Amino acid sequence: MQTLPKLTTVDTASSQPVFDTTIKRIKTRPVKVGNVTVGGGHPIVVQSMINEDTLDIDGSVAAIRRLHEINCEIVRVTVPSMAHAKALAEIKQKLIKTYQDVPIVADVHHNGMKIALEVAKHIEKVRINPGLYVFEKPNSSRTEYTQAEFDEIGEKIRETLEPLVISLRDQGKAMRIGVNHGSLAERMLFTYGDTPEGMVQSALEFIRICESLDFRNIVISMKASRVPVMVAAYRLMVQRMHENGMDYPLHLGVTEAGDGEYGRIKSTAGIATLLADGIGDTIRVSLTEPPEKEIPVCYSILQALGLRKTMVEYVACPSCGRTLFNLEEVLHKVREATKHLTGLDIAVMGCIVNGPGEMADADYGYVGKTPGYISLYRGREEIKKVPEDKGVEELINLIKADGRWVDP
Ligand code: SF4
Repeated sequence: MQTLPKLTTVDTASSQPVFDTTIKRIKTRPVKVGNVTVGGGHPIVVQSMINEDTLDIDGSVAAIRRLHEINCEIVRVTVPSMAHAKALAEIKQKLIKTYQDVPIVADVHHNGMKIALEVAKHIEKVRINPGLYVFEKPNSSRTEYTQAEFDEIGEKIRETLEPLVISLRDQGKAMRIGVNHGSLAERMLFTYGDTPEGMVQSALEFIRICESLDFRNIVISMKASRVPVMVAAYRLMVQRMHENGMDYPLHLGVTEAGDGEYGRIKSTAGIATLLADGIGDTIRVSLTEPPEKEIPVCYSILQALGLRKTMVEYVACPSCGRTLFNLEEVLHKVREATKHLTGLDIAVMGCIVNGPGEMADADYGYVGKTPGYISLYRGREEIKKVPEDKGVEELINLIKADGRWVDP
């Protein structure tokens, strides 16, 4: 039977139980991707992918820079041909010359062994898909896969993967073994079915080859477009790694999540569910929108879970019949005035009946007091009552008086 994680410890001084609500991340090994470290207890890394063709050197450099400037820490590109792989050398040089070095990961697909070897020279990490790395066209008349046939392809994979592993190992670079539910190899489908187990076994086969060559700079992903499949695959991967004494960091993502509100909710449902269990070291939200739109979603997920704090945390009540001012309007005004103050928690509550009690541990509170008046709080302490039209100004003054204000 599964045991629930222990939520309380006892404070030795007061003998009172202490609730620990912080997420306990599962321990993984640190994997260096250029100047960024994934895993090993480092903050969860945010990544995204440019849409530019890497043959367009200037366009790609500009796109990588745009993403990096809004805090995308690793940028992915795709390299469908040898010419694209060679172009990465120039992209890297231009980035360093005109901006700064940015960790880049390149996606290599169907039978991409030669391409992978070329890109490994120029960038920090190569992503391979076990289902496509040695690609055998599915045979529609096949009814079984014998162990001998299974092993024969396994041997071919080993021979093909070895030079890449050695190259990455000797250069201190990284590899992502990126399994996709939608592109499992035919032999995995025959042996394990279209299941999370098939996804996990695909990754394990590649991991074992890497380990036999003493290469462990590996990050694993188990993406699927259906959230329950993705969640199950990552959980199973964690279990299998634990059973096999492996501790590779995990890259989380829901593929083909779509766009708009549902795309964001779907990505969050998958990524946050796992992060809350302590699973995951780097995340990518995949939206059918410009990649710049993915970064704020990543940071919101991490902030909401208390895993990274990159913006002000606003606590606001939903408003009800007791609300003494236009909550939506006031929250908007407070946010516009204070959103640059990273690290603060600010509450906007509609009334003093429940407001002060429910604004959690916010640093400052803006609470409806009587019609036309609001009260400002520092923590749980009421500081002063001010006319509503002076509320935002006085809140800023209070933060300034506490020395916690910085100009935008
Ligand atoms: S804090 Fe007051 S106004 Fe806001 S929802 Fe609760 S009772 Fe209603």
